Amino acid sequence: EASDDNILVTEGLTKDFKGFTAVSEVDLAVRRGSIHALIGPNGAGKTTCFNLLTKFLTPTRGRISYNGRDITASKPADIARLGLVRSFQISAVFPHLTVTENVRIALQRKRGDSFDFWVSERVLSSLNAEALRLVEAVGLADFAEATAGELAYGRKRALEIATTLALDPEMLLLDEPMAGMGREDVDRIAALIRKVSANRTILMVEHNLSVVAELSDRITVLARGRVLAEGDYATVSKDPRVIEAYIGG
Ligand code: ADP
Repeated sequence: EASDDNILVTEGLTKDFKGFTAVSEVDLAVRRGSIHALIGPNGAGKTTCFNLLTKFLTPTRGRISYNGRDITASKPADIARLGLVRSFQISAVFPHLTVTENVRIALQRKRGDSFDFWVSERVLSSLNAEALRLVEAVGLADFAEATAGELAYGRKRALEIATTLALDPEMLLLDEPMAGMGREDVDRIAALIRKVSANRTILMVEHNLSVVAELSDRITVLARGRVLAEGDYATVSKDPRVIEAYIGG
């Protein structure tokens, strides 16, 4: 249902790969300000869905709207400019630069500055101060001068959140934010996601169901490209079709 309460809406979203339908007739409605999780067994179509939403893939059929605007035909860069930004593209972090420098470059990208040397000392020091604030906000104050390449896995992901926040997105798409993490990192990133969600909408794909249970306001379960169930964790986790999809593979 399209309404002002929903920031992102898809209608009949479908993606065929040479006769194989990876995403089929998906209707998704993400409420403004919510943490919404997209879950489902391997091959369910979660990644394809994310790629459609950010226009890394073009849908075969269906419609995507963001803030009431039809973005079905928009390009990835246009979508980012509208405030819908995808995180966790590891390549976005420069390993030889420090944590603060990485965030500062993201801030400069948002301003549209391409080269360091065109920036005045005054602008540079204000950008550095802003970068440091973001570094502190994601819990990396002790690592501000460390190079990104030497960070442990969970901290690298926190840095990716910081560089994404530097773009000041209205809505964040998080692609398996906890993948490959130990307990401590999971807790740190979960706390960070909750903090970041205070004034943003978050749509995430996540395999760790205890994290999904803890963080999500709403969950959409995909299986074989279709929406199998939708609701809060208590509702979907009791749904026999969901249990069957996970156990039956
Ligand atoms: P999930 O992220 O839920 O594990 P995916 O979206 O990665 O699922 O994949 C859904 C299905 O689409 C899988 O069966 C996968 O093999 C298939 N698929 C994904 N991308 C392509 C592609 N580029 N060409 C052909 N099939 C693909």
